[in-house]
Amino acid sequence: NLTVDKTLKWMTRVNEKIQANKAYLTSLDQAIGDGDHGINMSRGFQEVVKKLSSSHYETVSDCFKDVAMTLMSKVGGASGPIFGTAFLKMSMSVKGKESINQEEFTRAIDDAINGIIQRGKANEGDKTLLDVWMPILRVFQENDDINWNDADNTAKNAMEATKERLAKKGRAAYLKERSIGHIDPGSVSSYYLFQSLAEVMT
Ligand code: ADP
Ligand code: MG
Ligand code: MG
Repeated sequence: NLTVDKTLKWMTRVNEKIQANKAYLTSLDQAIGDGDHGINMSRGFQEVVKKLSSSHYETVSDCFKDVAMTLMSKVGGASGPIFGTAFLKMSMSVKGKESINQEEFTRAIDDAINGIIQRGKANEGDKTLLDVWMPILRVFQENDDINWNDADNTAKNAMEATKERLAKKGRAAYLKERSIGHIDPGSVSSYYLFQSLAEVMT
């Protein structure tokens, strides 16, 4: 189960990965965007960890809500509102819960995805972070007992597969065919998110 304690560890770990790979995320966004994804994510998750560590939480939903609010208010660009919406929907989905089981978490991810789609109008395959979130949702839906190593691999493969896709949404879409051959930056930060979750849950 995902508890408050695990949620805090999860966010700390995502932040560590993002800080460690800030330059890499930026270089990916330099190739097919405006080169700020590393800066956006690093500022956002630094603020998330600051906020979470200075507060006390009784529920996972309250943690998610503060993650959402922080990302929405501190991160510019597409990624702030998109990750922010995802965490806000997850918070609403598990409202009042101190600990969430797999079924509840699956529904939360599903709700997050619907929020991402509502917000950004992307489909799976458009070379956005949805290309990582959707396969992860399927892992949750199709396995009663998650193998976290498999979940990590699924997210990693999905992230790598964005390289050969043509971008249909976001700044990379302006490049049309020239967007092919570069990994989508938001898919890499989403991979860090799910990889961190897998590490915390095992
Ligand atoms: P910006 O593009 O505004 O500079 P970032 O560089 O921080 O914002 O984030 C870019 C990432 O946001 C992309 O790599 C992609 O994964 C994601 N993204 C962009 N547009 C959309 C969208 N419409 N729907 C879902 N994700 C999107
Ligand atoms: Mg950018
Ligand atoms: Mg930008």
